[in-house]
Amino acid sequence: MNLHSLILFILGLGCGYTTEVNPSLQEKKTTPPTELHASIIGLQPFGQFSKIHATSVASALEATFNFKVVVLPPQPLPAHAFVHIKTPRYRADSLIVHLRRQKKKQFVCVLGLTNKDISTTKRDKHGRTLKPASQYEDWGVFGLGFCPGVACIVSTYRLNSDNPHFISRLKKISVHEVGHNFGLPHCPNSGCVMMDAAESINTIDKVKLDFCSSCRMKLPKS
Ligand SMILES: [Zn+2]
Ligand SMILES: [Zn+2]
Repeated sequence: MNLHSLILFILGLGCGYTTEVNPSLQEKKTTPPTELHASIIGLQPFGQFSKIHATSVASALEATFNFKVVVLPPQPLPAHAFVHIKTPRYRADSLIVHLRRQKKKQFVCVLGLTNKDISTTKRDKHGRTLKPASQYEDWGVFGLGFCPGVACIVSTYRLNSDNPHFISRLKKISVHEVGHNFGLPHCPNSGCVMMDAAESINTIDKVKLDFCSSCRMKLPKS
């Protein structure tokens, strides 16, 4: 029952992407999300998030999870999530708590989508901030989601929208985060979308937009 984040970007060090488990933000639940009887995944675009990109994510989630996906009306990013520790950005952990708080019952989970930079604190397995804290206390990420839980967030800020793999990466990160919401931890199976992309963006490009058979067996049925 950990909070996972997908694919962190090592700002300034160039090019490392990794995933993390963040014990400080564990959901208090000991069972899978109680909303699993719900059959719709909600997409919550924030700010000026591209409708085309939101539609692409919706299609990927529908195809991968076999759940209906509803794109909600855009809303502004909550001001309380904004920080300026290293650079101006929004705390991913605050955003998923915000999304969880406002989630309607018909949604099994809600995925927030933003083009703003998002961050969290990178911690060890004991919940301690990695050192140097100045580097890890506000760590830029691509996405973050409760595991299990009902809310996750993905940012396109660190994905180059001019890159030909942009949409593919966005879809994979979104599926990965929703996978965490459904209780899937990181997976050691090569090519699985739940792989801990520990090395680089290349790892993301190598995984499929799908689960391995082991992960798929753990997913709820729509
Ligand atoms: Zn992850
Ligand atoms: Zn897997």
